[in-house]
Amino acid sequence: MSDCLFCKMAHGEIKPDVVYEDDTVLGFRDINPQAPVHVLLIPKRHISTLNDLEAEDGALIGKLYLAAKRVAAQEGVAEGGYRTLFNCNGDGGQEVFHLHLHLLGGRQMRWPPG
Ligand code: 5GP
Ligand code: ZN
Repeated sequence: MSDCLFCKMAHGEIKPDVVYEDDTVLGFRDINPQAPVHVLLIPKRHISTLNDLEAEDGALIGKLYLAAKRVAAQEGVAEGGYRTLFNCNGDGGQEVFHLHLHLLGGRQMRWPPG
């Protein structure tokens, strides 16, 4: 989508602080980090929300998690622990409508989340 911020990152029109990239996934640091490590993993193809996933997107979601696992190790938080999450729509706290998996680590996470 031409007016989507994360599509512009996926297509190289805007250059975020990239920590991971392969054919289908881009990982970059969140501009407003909520933890010492806060990385967003996005599919390069535009998908707005979790509600828009199709059955054939299952492998893509797996790739996002495998990328998160790799970045967690790369960033040194794999053993200490980390949190991954998708926000969906208003009540979920989603603000950017291009699917993204948050990877948060480097501090104690609280439960339940606010
Ligand atoms: P959401 O609330 O949609 O789950 O998360 C969107 C995330 O994108 C937020 O954590 C926000 O800080 C991050 N974000 C918004 N704009 C930018 C940007 O221009 N660059 C980067 N790197 N992150 C952004
Ligand atoms: Zn997009």
